[in-house]
Amino acid sequence: DPQPVALVERKADLGGRWVWRCHIDFTTPLPAVEEFLRRYVPSYDAVVFSAPAFSRDFGVPQVQISPSIDPLSDKNRELEPGQVTAVLENHGIDPARPVVTQISRFDYLKDPVGVVEVYRKVRRYVDCQLVLAGGGATDDPEGMKVLEEVRAAAAGDPDIHVLFLPPASDLEINALQRGSTVIMQKSLREGFGLTVAEALWKAKPVIASAVGGIPLQITHQYSGILSYSIDGTAYYLKQLLQEPRYARRLGENGREHIRNNILITRHLRDYLLLFLSLFHEGKDIVEL
Ligand code: UDP
Repeated sequence: DPQPVALVERKADLGGRWVWRCHIDFTTPLPAVEEFLRRYVPSYDAVVFSAPAFSRDFGVPQVQISPSIDPLSDKNRELEPGQVTAVLENHGIDPARPVVTQISRFDYLKDPVGVVEVYRKVRRYVDCQLVLAGGGATDDPEGMKVLEEVRAAAAGDPDIHVLFLPPASDLEINALQRGSTVIMQKSLREGFGLTVAEALWKAKPVIASAVGGIPLQITHQYSGILSYSIDGTAYYLKQLLQEPRYARRLGENGREHIRNNILITRHLRDYLLLFLSLFHEGKDIVEL
């Protein structure tokens, strides 16, 4: 990520091959940030981005490697139905009624207030509850302000559950995702959107913005829904709540996509191939 990029200044002392791994949305960086990065990135032997849209010319080889999820981790492993219900009930969520969830840090770029707007448009026609769950990041000074804005937007509706989660809430997030009817990820910018992969792995129908790495995970109307606006998102949310068979099919296709492309095994293979290629400079083909 940008924060450790300057470590490459030690390359001459330490030797070895150096790769800069960029996890963030790099479609339109602030000029000052890009200028800062350009002081360091050309010293690396290769650059890794999460999506082709982020690629730019740094004068060094570039590789696209999607992040991944670990299906055996607490965040993603199978849970007993009782565990899922218990977490929902602990938070006052009714497991017998539809649950729409967005799991995200409270950050403007995740547009949680936009999610509340979508919910309000849909709630007029279809019964559902909204869960906005997430913590803050220690490097994000705006988090608390965003949380307050979300609480204000949600005020007065007992069906909106704003959950501020402590760090290491993996099992709880797993249960919230599994207990949801539809998962949203209404980001305005997104590096990759691991929450989308986590939800699809649980075969959940996902509606997510077509930004950053999300289109690498969702094929519109096949393995989820890609949306562009509040109204569009509301339209599809209403549809998925009203057409559970269609919603289930999207989730099942999504799970297969994650199985084939976004698990840790594929990730490991990609990295091994990248490392190998660094020791075969100038070759067009490197085989594992
Ligand atoms: N997450 C978490 N606690 C939270 C909010 C999110 O553990 O309160 C996890 C979430 O399940 C996912 C990751 O943090 O694994 C967020 O990754 P993503 O790519 O979706 O977004 P980022 O936060 O990196 O922008």
